[in-house]
Amino acid sequence: MRLILLGAPGAGKGTQGALLAKKHGLTKIATGDILRDAVRRDTPLGQQAKTYMNAGELVPDELILAMVRDVLSDQTEGFVLDGFPRTLEQAEGLRAILTEMEIDLDAVVVLHVPDDVLVKRISGRRSCPQCKHVYNVYFEPPAEEGQCDKCGAELVRRADDDPATVENRLQVYARQTQPLIEFYEASGTEVLYVDGTGDVDEVQDEIEEQLRSV
Ligand code: AMP
Repeated sequence: MRLILLGAPGAGKGTQGALLAKKHGLTKIATGDILRDAVRRDTPLGQQAKTYMNAGELVPDELILAMVRDVLSDQTEGFVLDGFPRTLEQAEGLRAILTEMEIDLDAVVVLHVPDDVLVKRISGRRSCPQCKHVYNVYFEPPAEEGQCDKCGAELVRRADDDPATVENRLQVYARQTQPLIEFYEASGTEVLYVDGTGDVDEVQDEIEEQLRSV
């Protein structure tokens, strides 16, 4: 199965993508994770991407497309794309890459969550730098404030999850990424609309239910 997860920051793409990947044996390709790793390792890509990311802006399409082309090149089995494509140029670029690889997308899953919930989800998000577990100080706090339940490491907030940047990220989503829904509808790809406000299991069940019809 080859899927795209579309949704605003905080809609749950990462969480739902990980569950889908595990259940269906897919590779989760999250461009945000790849970029954060590049920033941490201070690679040339990381150095170029960092300023955009910290401001909540999108990293230029050429950099993203080169990176994705590379990752997809050894991807003959299924995958779930999380956080890519984010612009029409990226969607066109992805179409060209998939055509070259002679493979098709099965569906685009759109996770919808209202803005006020998104803001709370993102501003409350804390993650463990060691085991990567993600918490939320409002909805899923760790037993001990600031500390990972699983491995004891000190929890961190992503640099772009601060309230000032969140607002910009939501605007960038509305302006640059939301139009992709229409792009995929027009291109005949199956587009599945999922209410992303429920708890993790409810949302996952709804995605599975809709995928059965694909
Ligand atoms: P995410 O973890 O998906 O929320 O991504 C975090 C940040 O990485 C975004 O705010 C962008 O700055 C950058 N980023 C991730 N994926 C993309 C993409 N497909 N195109 C451009 N920038 C991206």
